[in-house]
Amino acid sequence: MNLPVIVIGAGVGGLTTAALLTQNGHQVKILEKSSKVGGRTISTKFQNHILDNGFHIMPFYKKSAIFEILKKLKIDSKLKLAKVDDIAFYSSDGFHTYPKGILDLLKLSLLPLKSRIKLLRILLPIAFTSISKTESWDNTPLTKITSGLDSETNAFFEAVCMLAFADSAEHISLGEFARTIIRANPFKGGTSEFAYPDNGGYDSICNVLSDYILDQGGEIHTRQLVKKIIVEDSKVTGVLIQNLKGSDELIYTNCAVISYPAYTALNQLFEKNIIPSEFVNKINKLNKTTSVVEVHFALKSKIDSRQVVFPVGKIYTTKGIFFISNITPSVSPPGEHLIIAGTPVLPEDTDNPQKIKNIVTKMKQEISSIYPEFQQSLLWERPMAWKLVESVVKEPGKVWKSKMPHTIKGIEGLYFVGDSTISYGIGTDSAAHSSLLCTPKIESFLKL
Ligand SMILES: Cc1cc2nc3c(=O)[nH]c(=O)nc-3n(C[C@H](O)[C@H](O)[C@H](O)COP(=O)(O)OP(=O)(O)OC[C@H]3O[C@@H](n4cnc5c(N)ncnc54)[C@H](O)[C@@H]3O)c2cc1C
Repeated sequence: MNLPVIVIGAGVGGLTTAALLTQNGHQVKILEKSSKVGGRTISTKFQNHILDNGFHIMPFYKKSAIFEILKKLKIDSKLKLAKVDDIAFYSSDGFHTYPKGILDLLKLSLLPLKSRIKLLRILLPIAFTSISKTESWDNTPLTKITSGLDSETNAFFEAVCMLAFADSAEHISLGEFARTIIRANPFKGGTSEFAYPDNGGYDSICNVLSDYILDQGGEIHTRQLVKKIIVEDSKVTGVLIQNLKGSDELIYTNCAVISYPAYTALNQLFEKNIIPSEFVNKINKLNKTTSVVEVHFALKSKIDSRQVVFPVGKIYTTKGIFFISNITPSVSPPGEHLIIAGTPVLPEDTDNPQKIKNIVTKMKQEISSIYPEFQQSLLWERPMAWKLVESVVKEPGKVWKSKMPHTIKGIEGLYFVGDSTISYGIGTDSAAHSSLLCTPKIESFLKL
């Protein structure tokens, strides 16, 4: 009898892997500890609005790894996407249109012409290099090429890094930055556009994937916590779960796919001495993530028709204002408008209610200074803080092939996917990319 492949976790990484496996006729059982699919992209209903788990946007629109997988599965038509392309910078002298392509940089009114030309001189050669070449820059900081620039041009880099990586340029690897620029280059088949599910709720992506998996005969079990992976004679033989009744249950399998951050899983799921300690120590070093405070605001009037505004400059705590109802009205009840404002913080700040309160006050002052009618229009606010945005930061030495490998040498039938594993791209795009890279490895094992 064929044993099912056990996929642990129903976020983007677990679901894309499971969907690709079921497409090729493999039997798959997903075990998810929480009550819904979606992982970090989960959405909830609050006061008749659909709130995402922090602002989520799909980078690279239809060129993203997620969309590539949906096309492979022939279900791309099931996910209607709204384009997010009305983006602006806000600086002390007003709004400036965000450049949609590399040549738009020449029109970027945020910067003096001299700086725009300097910027193009730096970015054009990067945009036309190859993805494989970028690997040699993975250990180099982005500041290597930006440190000599004037403060206005640097502020532009800061805004782009905030949009793409929720972090500042000094923490970004030049290699990862370069891959983003290449993938945004229309002359190389890329796009700098972003997308958001038109029906509202970023977890629509996971819902479309889980419908597909169920249609293909796969199984998705929620509220199932995986406690241990059993490895005997260097082979996976089963997983121990806590079932709905709270008791332990053994499920036999010869193939387990872990889709949540590998540094956590390696420390939770295995008996001592199964995974070499030097390997665990190496992976533990990846346990770094950006942290953010984000606040949903519901408004009774529309204060801007743009989709995203990035306040530029050190004076602003608010680094992004996302007008979600302008991206798709389906997230809000008629007559109400949802926005979310965000800022990166230190991980310890996410546990400090006073710090979060101060940030919210500051954000409200700043948004009111840009939109004087904001305060009057405000119906309610809902602040949230996250420690785990992406599973690894984009720091030099912690990107692409330096991430957790998809397999561990010497252990048969054990696989790792998700944003902590070898892949590039932003958040959900990286989780989906890891599935594209890992699934063929799982399939060759299953064929054997
Ligand atoms: C505030 C915020 C904003 C973000 N913004 C963006 C954005 O704009 N664009 C973007 O692309 N990405 C964004 N991200 C990142 C993105 O959400 C993640 O990179 C992506 O969802 C990771 O997917 P994953 O499948 O790798 O992991 P996860 O989504 O974490 O999925 C892992 C799953 O495993 C389950 N699990 C864990 N342990 C067990 C266990 N023992 N047994 C069973 N199940 C288990 C978890 O419950 C979870 O459902 C953001 C994240 C946050 C928090």
